[in-house]
Amino acid sequence: MTSYSFRCKDIGMDCGFETKADSMESLMPKITQHAREAHKMNEISEELKKKVSAAIKTMH
Ligand SMILES: [Zn+2]
Repeated sequence: MTSYSFRCKDIGMDCGFETKADSMESLMPKITQHAREAHKMNEISEELKKKVSAAIKTMH
């Protein structure tokens, strides 16, 4: 099974948050929720989305 993981510091944040899920669809909401709560990012820009997508690691 494939799993997807994301670490906040991979997008240059000084933050120890990491999360994983077994699909992109369930991972993205976790990341956006964290961004809102921990980093006060109410709007996720396209640029940030691209950064996040590039930082997501896939494990098989
Ligand atoms: Zn963070």
